[in-house]
Amino acid sequence: MKVLIADDSATSRAMLRKSLARWGYEVVMAEDGAEAWDILEKPDAPPMAILDWVMPHLTGPDVCRKVRETRREPYTYILLLTSKNSKDETVEGLEAGADDYIVKPFDQQELSVRLRAGKRIIDLQLSLMEAREELREKANKDLLTKLPNRAAIMAILETEIARSHRDQRSVGVVILDIDHFKRVNDTYGHFAGDAVLRETAARLKNSMRAYDQVGRYGGEEFLVVLPNCEMEQAIHQADRMRLRLQESKILADAGVEIAVTASFGVSVTDLSDRNPEVFIRVADEALYRAKANGRNRVESLYFGDSDLKSA
Ligand code: GH3
Ligand code: MG
Ligand code: MG
Repeated sequence: MKVLIADDSATSRAMLRKSLARWGYEVVMAEDGAEAWDILEKPDAPPMAILDWVMPHLTGPDVCRKVRETRREPYTYILLLTSKNSKDETVEGLEAGADDYIVKPFDQQELSVRLRAGKRIIDLQLSLMEAREELREKANKDLLTKLPNRAAIMAILETEIARSHRDQRSVGVVILDIDHFKRVNDTYGHFAGDAVLRETAARLKNSMRAYDQVGRYGGEEFLVVLPNCEMEQAIHQADRMRLRLQESKILADAGVEIAVTASFGVSVTDLSDRNPEVFIRVADEALYRAKANGRNRVESLYFGDSDLKSA
């Protein structure tokens, strides 16, 4: 684990460095408070810091306060070095946000034990962060297709709409629904149906531009978000996906090949609204037309021409 040592005394720095290296820590040095803050402010800052109390530019407690103000993650564990042993000053150090303090001249073994206590806290926090990240991933992902789930792709669309308002651009919104998918389940079984959904997701993903995104919107419905995209391009993109799906049969099981098509509804956002649901409903209306007009096709609709507008 990396530890910052900030002390204006070269002798003290050298001594600490030697001890910490012996205990297996990787050491980063700062000669005053300002330099310590420079290091701790960076994204790859050491998770632990030993700060001398009295230093030029910024004192140990000053650096503590600055670190705590940023509420950065992962947490920085701070141990203050002090020759002040009065109760008031101890309280001041802890109030500045230090986790622990040690009075100079200190006992080597005591320092080593206190650092270990700090390391336990850092390790604990890192594992909590990992667990939280894992949960976040799970909460946003559709298990079957590994695509963003409905909530996640909606959030993506919402973010893209906000960006498009700043840039005065539009976002392409495509809803697609696999044609006669119930038949796939009825004929080949639910597992084959699942395999078709997985392969559909994969084909959609690899027929898109890098910055486009697709999510599973519902059972056999997918939502595609095309940032920075006008209607003509959105239709073109939807048609590429349509062709990619029908171009070859999907191998659902050993020896079972299933021809799959989908119908596509395309809309583009405009500056009239920021609510993603509005444009999804317009795309859905276009999708309904694609189904009604024979399936395996792309239909498009502007918000201004939709039933939604006239309603
Ligand atoms: P249309 O062309 O009008 O869209 O007809 P369809 O049969 O595709 O539409 P319908 O809505 O009648 O049927 C969708 C089917 O998708 C019904 C449902 O059981 C199936 N389905 C939804 N989610 C899953 C899933 O996760 N796995 C499997 N295997 N089937 C699913
Ligand atoms: Mg369907
Ligand atoms: Mg459906």
